[in-house]
Amino acid sequence: MPCKSSEELNELVLEAKKYTKYGKVADYIPELKKAHPHDLSVAIYHPNGTCRSAGDIQQKITLQSISKVLTLALALIDCGEESVFRKVGYEPTGDPFNSIIKLEIMNPTKPLNPMINAGALAVTHMIKGKNIEDRLNRILSFVQELTNNPNVTYSQEVAKSEFETAHLNRSLCYYMKQYGVINEDVEELMDLYTKQCAIEMDCLDLARIGIVFAMDGVEPITNKRIIPVDVARICKTFMVTCGMYNASGEFAVRVGIPAKSGVSGGIMGAVPNRFGIGIFGPALDDKGNSIAGLKLLEMMSIKYALSMF
Ligand code: GLU
Repeated sequence: MPCKSSEELNELVLEAKKYTKYGKVADYIPELKKAHPHDLSVAIYHPNGTCRSAGDIQQKITLQSISKVLTLALALIDCGEESVFRKVGYEPTGDPFNSIIKLEIMNPTKPLNPMINAGALAVTHMIKGKNIEDRLNRILSFVQELTNNPNVTYSQEVAKSEFETAHLNRSLCYYMKQYGVINEDVEELMDLYTKQCAIEMDCLDLARIGIVFAMDGVEPITNKRIIPVDVARICKTFMVTCGMYNASGEFAVRVGIPAKSGVSGGIMGAVPNRFGIGIFGPALDDKGNSIAGLKLLEMMSIKYALSMF
């Protein structure tokens, strides 16, 4: 079903777009520098399959940290709650997403949560499969099922660009390997992780992932359960507590929905039983969230009474 452009959303996008000038596109992954800072688009997917949008929703984004929610779901399906949380904790860190400090000063054998890079790398390590290719294919099939789009794949350029420059993530892996959190080859894990982060899609696909979480793991059109209800609940809880980097508390107050953002400028939102939201706005604020995307969600939250609190 095509996504219909909405006049109402368009007005909100135009208003929120004014904030793009205060943000900056991520540049530590060289390929992400190519994004246009003034882009802003949104798609909202409803449980009945209708979709409303504004902006250039054909524009593709890489998931980056948004993929961490999806690999967490897959690892929970693969290994179960107990084994996953034996290796990764539940608590927000208050540090930047790529920080190593808490690993050293709090617990070197257990990254604090699955949304920071250390925790996400430990989670990707748990995804089962015969080899890296098989594990990547499992992640891709899962994402294709969530989006109901068999064409979703990863951007080779973005994956390569991150793989060649991800020295900090490599150091997190080596640190965790020293302490037995991971035991596979670090280059192989980095290969898988950078490809997972480079999975590419448009806002509509992102909104479709949002609706599956909003409906507790069921794809509302096919009525197929893709994620067990407990796994969806755990993922949404992390989206609330750590999904928006170190602005998750403020986001909970101002917007009040489970959401996850990535350094590409994507935000995936899940409004319980109501909407899946996909946003793309590559200019980021100093915490790493899409600056105009946040404004847009704040306005949407007021207009459509989105807060679950
Ligand atoms: N691939 C990115 C990294 O690991 C994801 C970070 C993010 O989106 O927060 O640095």
